[in-house]
Amino acid sequence: MTPEAGIGTLSGVGAKSAPLFRELGIETARDLLDYLPFRYDDLRFPTPSGLLGTTGASEENAVGIVTRVKERRVRGLEIVEVGLHDDAGEFIAKWIGRNRYVIGRFSEGMRLFVRGRVERTIAGAIVNVTHYAQLRDGESYHGEMVPIYRGSKELTTRKIASVVAKNLPQLLSLTEEDPLPPDISQARGYGSLRDAYRMVHAPASPEEAQRARERFIFSEFLVLAASAKLRRMGREREHDADALKIPSELMGEFQAALPFPLTGAQRRSIDEIWRDMTRDVPMNRLLQGDVGSGKTLVAAAAIVLAARNGVQSALMAPTEILASQHAAKLAPLLLPFGIPLEAVFGSQGAKARNAAVSRIGSGEAAVAVGTHALLTEGVDFARLGLVVIDEQHRFGVEQRARLRAKGAAPHTLHMTATPIPRTLAQSVYADLDVSVIDELPPGRTPIETYAVRTSRLDDVYAFVRANVDRGNQAYIVAPAIDEESELTSVVAEAERLKGDVFPDLQLGLLHGRMTPREKDDVMGRFARGEIDVLLATTVVEVGVDVPNASVMVILDSQRYGLAQLHQLRGRVGRGAAKSFCILVYPDDNVESERLGILTESTDGFRIAEEDLRLRGAGEFAGTAQSGAADLWIADLVRDIDVYAQARTVAEELLARDPRLTAPEHAGLRALLERQPSTRALVLSS
Ligand code: ADP
Ligand code: MG
Repeated sequence: MTPEAGIGTLSGVGAKSAPLFRELGIETARDLLDYLPFRYDDLRFPTPSGLLGTTGASEENAVGIVTRVKERRVRGLEIVEVGLHDDAGEFIAKWIGRNRYVIGRFSEGMRLFVRGRVERTIAGAIVNVTHYAQLRDGESYHGEMVPIYRGSKELTTRKIASVVAKNLPQLLSLTEEDPLPPDISQARGYGSLRDAYRMVHAPASPEEAQRARERFIFSEFLVLAASAKLRRMGREREHDADALKIPSELMGEFQAALPFPLTGAQRRSIDEIWRDMTRDVPMNRLLQGDVGSGKTLVAAAAIVLAARNGVQSALMAPTEILASQHAAKLAPLLLPFGIPLEAVFGSQGAKARNAAVSRIGSGEAAVAVGTHALLTEGVDFARLGLVVIDEQHRFGVEQRARLRAKGAAPHTLHMTATPIPRTLAQSVYADLDVSVIDELPPGRTPIETYAVRTSRLDDVYAFVRANVDRGNQAYIVAPAIDEESELTSVVAEAERLKGDVFPDLQLGLLHGRMTPREKDDVMGRFARGEIDVLLATTVVEVGVDVPNASVMVILDSQRYGLAQLHQLRGRVGRGAAKSFCILVYPDDNVESERLGILTESTDGFRIAEEDLRLRGAGEFAGTAQSGAADLWIADLVRDIDVYAQARTVAEELLARDPRLTAPEHAGLRALLERQPSTRALVLSS
């Protein structure tokens, strides 16, 4: 067997089950070896009858002596109930099924081992038998740790476990490079990689399984941390970026051109960014700041510095709405500095597009703002020195790289309004420097937030109307598009509102199944005040800015993470009017407490920390820069301490052996070579 052997070639995998394995991402023998159980049932010892059904295991084992046998056959089903007793009392073992051939097998006085899911009834514990064996007199019982794998509807954990068990010796012989250098493995008290695989698939005890898992978690983090460190070192080695000069009067000039003073946090972020841009090492910085914290202005400062040094900037945003808002906001900020801006959108007419592209190509345009359209081949820059990526997590690694590739070695500023909890930032963004705007511009009236039960929805809509009557606009957000579930659908709610509740108001509808053009059209009408109430799914989540909107109603708000609700809330409170966010949740829902965090706090970081505590890292890992999103077994929240240790080890190791050429680092090196993002870095030695 080779690591690449197809899953179908393994013993116990047939033509029927092979596709089911593939659906779970298990294509090869190596994939199966790496498919680790997520927990175990400890069935090493039979459960005493009195405790059956209380252990929490999905199946339990019991051993007893048969006291009575009851057999029936009903419409081809065999139903056999056997009474058993052990030292602690009585229990029942039950077989039901077609052709089990268990009728006539059992008799009084027999010693039986049975395993199955336990039901506790008034008649006592009933084991629904899936495995059984007759034990000879005096034969002792040896149970095992049963690994539980994540299966699917058609492929049970039992089937996966049986295939693993059948092929385990061959699978174990496949273990390849160990990313853990032997001295480190030894210092941490880990055994060999092969032992670890054995211990994780077929542990003798819970302690063994735990130790093996920790080894895998540590080594996975070691690879992650080493890869981040390598990328950073690679960047630091290449002194190919434009080292920009900061004219001494520039900050003063910039401030003087603004209608308001910079906040301290904006000033600090600009300083950090400008300092990065003076180096000949390309900047790779993330600017984190809550909605409304003033990131655009910070980006403008970076663009001004670039332009003053004669290099071009490109700003890419995920949607046309956002890109055109950026263009509209940036233009007046750049005007005093005489910096001309071009926009590049997908929906642009050919003529406008060609004109923009040619001014970008000639260098006449100092700034290009746009969507993915910026990535198209015809768009070339004369001298691209700064790349700004808004809502960076909405773009793939590859897209971000493609924009950067339009320059030689441009400085890159990523922006996000999704605050990453501080505890996570360092690991999720291991390859980035981070600036945080943790301060809102002064004079904002905080958005008032209320959690309200669905039974009071009429009051909520009356409140919406009152605000519309005052000349403001409202968003109503619902989770579903059509009525496919018990969730509120925007389409149905829009119908209802049009008919009964707001027949006299202008309603708009916005959801993800509309074309980009339809969406832009609706958003445009809402922005111009032609729509009073906009029914939308979470497509309105990011960045859309309509200052006249003062109410955000979120239906079925219990459906969303806190960070996402906070994002949605950020759509209002952008203008002069006092703004409100109303979180509607079902009367019978207990989640009002969770929602309470939002009614109390408007601090995106605090909310993100809370979300992290409640929902785990997955949510944030999705926004990650690199491998963190698809971790194999480690979890950045649960295992954050292990990550810190792995990072220290990775840094020490790379300080000693930056190209990983030492023989003991061959395993780590081999793994990093398999990752596209680090391949070149280790191979370049
Ligand atoms: P973000 O992109 O971080 O959500 P914006 O850059 O769109 O925020 O800024 C939000 C609003 O705050 C804009 O209307 C902007 O003009 C205003 N603003 C930004 N910085 C300041 C400041 N220092 N003082 C007052 N208003 C500011
Ligand atoms: Mg913004």
